[in-house]
Amino acid sequence: MSDDAEILVDLLREVLGDEKQHYEGKGQIAFNCPVCDEDRNKGNLEINYFSHVYKCWSCGDVNDTHGPLGKLFDKYGNKKQKKVYKVLQPEEFKPKEKKFKKLILPSNFTTFKDSSVVYPIRRQAYNYLKNRGITDEIIEKYGIGFCDTGTHASRIVVPSYDKNGELNYYIARSWIPNTKTKYKNPEAEKDKIIFNEHLIDWNKDIFLVEGVFDGFFLPNSIPMLGKHMSQLLFETVYKKAKKNITISLDGDAWEDAVKLYHELNGGELYGRVKIVKLPKDKDVCDLKGQINEYYFNIK
Ligand SMILES: [Zn+2]
Repeated sequence: MSDDAEILVDLLREVLGDEKQHYEGKGQIAFNCPVCDEDRNKGNLEINYFSHVYKCWSCGDVNDTHGPLGKLFDKYGNKKQKKVYKVLQPEEFKPKEKKFKKLILPSNFTTFKDSSVVYPIRRQAYNYLKNRGITDEIIEKYGIGFCDTGTHASRIVVPSYDKNGELNYYIARSWIPNTKTKYKNPEAEKDKIIFNEHLIDWNKDIFLVEGVFDGFFLPNSIPMLGKHMSQLLFETVYKKAKKNITISLDGDAWEDAVKLYHELNGGELYGRVKIVKLPKDKDVCDLKGQINEYYFNIK
């Protein structure tokens, strides 16, 4: 037996007890089924550790006691045993990355230009944007729309497209004051996308902001969708940004901003990272992008 096979068999014994049969040449080993044996000592659970599969001949179909060995360890192994198995598990038996369904905009999404200016709900949506200083040019540039009814009713929707123009995310912000859920964003992991990457010119100065609404007010901005930068964005900025980078997080995130400053300001980017310190209760959107007086010198 190879070392790996030996470790795997020991690991199986740890989880399932002593084997009833073992054909080393075939990688075949049988144990009592943890689900249906009930001390009858039948040895019905058969495992092939060459092909990393298991099946209980008695209850496999009724109790779903069959499948790849990874599933067996997930069900009956402890944390450590699962970990050890992950190391032994051959690449071809590892579960494939989940494929995400193609993202679509919420139902009833409409752009402002496709909706009648006298439609009351359109007016609510439009007034909300106007009150936050968002102009028609911004609405046009970002393809901002809204939902009047449906799962995302009374929400402004800002779509995000990747560099090939494919929708990869959106934010849906309620315009109802004091609503419980301000945002209702899709489940697509926000750490795996760069918001509206197709609009970013990496050869120009870049502004890192927290929210999408902040981003509207600074040229060539990248919303981090929070106070922390994803690994993907960090690596992309590091590789692609050719000019200055200004960190402009909300006033209440000064410590996060300083931390980010030190993380970014090294290697290729050294000396090109700038930071602004906004008043505690303000963000870029509140200030309509007027951040010049808040640049801060970090020694
Ligand atoms: Zn069984």
